[in-house]
Amino acid sequence: METIVKGMEGVEAAAEIIKNGGLVAFPTETVYGLGGNALDPEASRKIYAAKGRPSDNPLIVHVASVSEVYPLVSAFPESAKKLMETFWPGPLTIILPKSEIVPYETTGGLETVAIRCPENRVTLSFIKASGLPIAGPSANTSGKPSPTEATHVLHDLNGRIDMILDDGPVGIGVESTIIDMSGEVPTLLRPGAITLEELSDTLGKKVEIDPAIVAGGVNEGIRPKAPGMKYRHYAPNAKMALVTTRLLKEKDYDVSEEERLQADRQVSDYINELVERDEAEGLRAGIICCDETKALYERAQGKASDIKIIGHRSEPLSMTHELFRVLREFDDDKVERIYAESYSDRGVGFALMNRMRKAAGMTELLADEK
Ligand code: AMP
Ligand code: MG
Repeated sequence: METIVKGMEGVEAAAEIIKNGGLVAFPTETVYGLGGNALDPEASRKIYAAKGRPSDNPLIVHVASVSEVYPLVSAFPESAKKLMETFWPGPLTIILPKSEIVPYETTGGLETVAIRCPENRVTLSFIKASGLPIAGPSANTSGKPSPTEATHVLHDLNGRIDMILDDGPVGIGVESTIIDMSGEVPTLLRPGAITLEELSDTLGKKVEIDPAIVAGGVNEGIRPKAPGMKYRHYAPNAKMALVTTRLLKEKDYDVSEEERLQADRQVSDYINELVERDEAEGLRAGIICCDETKALYERAQGKASDIKIIGHRSEPLSMTHELFRVLREFDDDKVERIYAESYSDRGVGFALMNRMRKAAGMTELLADEK
């Protein structure tokens, strides 16, 4: 049984566990991580085993400052340093060529290493106290939504790790942005709270998008550069579909007030209809909507369905904060079908929609073409 320790109190004990080759789950501003000594192949193997994660899916190495990056990399371009100085501590993971001290067990066999400095005081103290870089993927069972609270970690990893550092619910709620700086062209491998626009502004040049992000990473014969993006991810037990309209997609969600109202009506009518159909078949259905549209789902209210409002669609960070918790609640409630509204891909919306599409296995229904 793990010890869950709140706040700063567990820092010293957690550092001792790491130094002795054990595993500690730690809070960050994105999601909870599952940490081990990044320089110890045995610790990395334990992380894969605890998560049930395929071992070709590399881990992110967490450091407490930019100076700790030097021993981990064999090349350190100025552009990568600039990103670190601008966004660290923060939700940005940077891929660089690895040095010899980083074992292939940590990098999933790759010649590159993913590095990040998280913004959480407990975790920064824990990394400093251990004096080691900490390998840490998200602290969930592989394939499940990432943990945004210590209780999620306990639910998934109970009995398989040594300790959980608990610093309450996380802020952002989806994993870090990943940018590959190991080649000529900076490439976004995973969208997160640091946006594409912020990255290209800081670098003063265009950042490419790994095609696998848009394709969903599973189908279409595209091999993602971040191996983790190819696995079914963030998945609730229920079958999930996103619902939108052709018009919203064509206009990139940039529509007039009148078009917006019409699209909201079409989407909610269709979702209400789907829920009614499922319930007639004895299936438990759930809805994901936003504050702006919640009133449109009254028809479904009071039936067997579960309606989750994930935030304001005008503020994507309010929705990333809730998404994984809501998906886990659907699992707890034994929901079998989930219908979710779709939102704009702009800014942080790209990270939100990337996770929602993956949770839905890329299934999308068009309410104006049913
Ligand atoms: P997680 O921390 O669970 O979100 O998983 C780490 C993510 O980082 C996975 O999607 C990995 O595939 C990705 N990643 C880690 N190291 C590398 C690397 N060297 N090159 C590309 N992607 C990486
Ligand atoms: Mg993960």
